[in-house]
Amino acid sequence: EQMSNEMPHWLTKRAFLTPDREAVSDGRRSWSFWELKERARDVARRLARLGVGRGDRVAVLMDNHLDYAAWIHAISFLGAVAVPLNTRLAPAEWGWQVADAEAKVWVFDESLEERVCEADEAGWEAVRISRQEIASTSPAEVELVERICLTDPATMMYTSGTTGRPKGVILTYGNHWWNAMGSVLNLGLQEDKWLACVPLFHMSGLSILMRGVIYGMAVEIQAGFDPAEANRSIHERGVTIVSVVSNMAARMLDDLGEQTYPLSFRCLLLGGGPAPRPLLERCRDKGVPVFQTYGMTETASQAATLSPEGSLARLGSAGKPLFPGELTIRKGDQTLPPGEEGEIAVRAPYVTPGYWKRPDATREAIRDGWLYTGDIGYVDEQGFLYVLDRRSDLILSGGENVYPAEVEAVLLSHPAVAEAGVVGKTDARWGEVPVAFVVLRSEGGVDEQVLIRHCRERLARYKVPVQIIWTDALPRNASNKVLRRKLKAKLEQRMNEG
Ligand code: ATP
Ligand code: MG
Repeated sequence: EQMSNEMPHWLTKRAFLTPDREAVSDGRRSWSFWELKERARDVARRLARLGVGRGDRVAVLMDNHLDYAAWIHAISFLGAVAVPLNTRLAPAEWGWQVADAEAKVWVFDESLEERVCEADEAGWEAVRISRQEIASTSPAEVELVERICLTDPATMMYTSGTTGRPKGVILTYGNHWWNAMGSVLNLGLQEDKWLACVPLFHMSGLSILMRGVIYGMAVEIQAGFDPAEANRSIHERGVTIVSVVSNMAARMLDDLGEQTYPLSFRCLLLGGGPAPRPLLERCRDKGVPVFQTYGMTETASQAATLSPEGSLARLGSAGKPLFPGELTIRKGDQTLPPGEEGEIAVRAPYVTPGYWKRPDATREAIRDGWLYTGDIGYVDEQGFLYVLDRRSDLILSGGENVYPAEVEAVLLSHPAVAEAGVVGKTDARWGEVPVAFVVLRSEGGVDEQVLIRHCRERLARYKVPVQIIWTDALPRNASNKVLRRKLKAKLEQRMNEG
């Protein structure tokens, strides 16, 4: 039993199978799998000097670069757990996560050192050291991990903190393994090169590194997102798959202009949030192979993805759960039939065993082996998933459900609107009514009544915002997600002030 859960360390195995194949590149430099393995093992030996061993957490604060890949594997060569930190967080937020994770070491890019110094770990003390400084220490004589166990924790990543305080999501080797398997059983494997222009500190990026080593697939890592550079990697450097969120996809299409993509480009994996319909239609018209996906930190990236067969007929769907996962729509612990809206629940070997030090949150999220995602959606007769919104953001108006995402999408379809965030306002008659915060495009000008009429023509009456509040910017988290809970607080404050 125990034996069946064990296997050679992935990078050792991969470097044995295909030593000369390209593992990672950044458009200028590239490392083979052999080289990646040697570098990772070298980093591991230096990291061991700091006393890092089995089960220890190592916080990693780095931009996207080749060394990121070496570091993730280096940590696993010590049997330790990598805790990627979001570079866009404030120092105080890093400090909180490092302390919460009880990280033994906090390693960072030298360029971030000044900001790291501002962080307060409130009582916890990790060894703070830059990647560059570790590179100049001498390696220790230690035994590196030869075999990994699928039930052991590999990484711990914090959720984006959209609905509340971020939670540390423990992901085992098995979780990463099964997610990589589910993805490849859906997308297939050819002579692929997967572009990571999404942050490696997010699941969408980290999972590309995992797939790379498991599949023996090349990964191109880009430092930041630049639509022209992403397009160049497709046109000139053989990138076949790209992971994006919707605004990245839109900017790539803008940059593409009248050109088309080569046939070798076979998958634009679009996830992270709702996909606006106009974007999907643009992709369809341009023949861009867009695959909508739904996932979260807790599912080690994709939980459901629309396979190529279904994508045109079911624009807007996030597809079916990755093999061998299951997905149901729940109301309490009752499963709802197709067409009915409820909470999306996922049961799969790629679902986290739970949150770090949060037994209550874990018990609430994982019940009878099912992960209750906190997202609302429905499935059609064939089992295709449609994601509506987060349960916590749902507006209940006169007994009807209003999904802010749907109203926001309609507002955004107006040419004068740059950003929109919709929340519920307490109302004596209806319980709650939708109110919209809107940021206008600089060149645009539109009055409230015009925008409300625009909504009326496209939405049921109860979904139409009763009020538009003009604002300069929407509150967003470090993952660029709109924080509706902050909008709601702002609204309440306005109401109290009269
Ligand atoms: P927190 O859990 O701390 O509130 P978060 O849920 O934003 O933060 P992530 O794990 O980064 O943290 O994001 C996952 C969430 O993103 C999903 O639960 C869902 O709400 C949203 N999401 C992902 N893919 C889609 C999609 N295709 N359509 C709609 N929403 C999506
Ligand atoms: Mg979440």
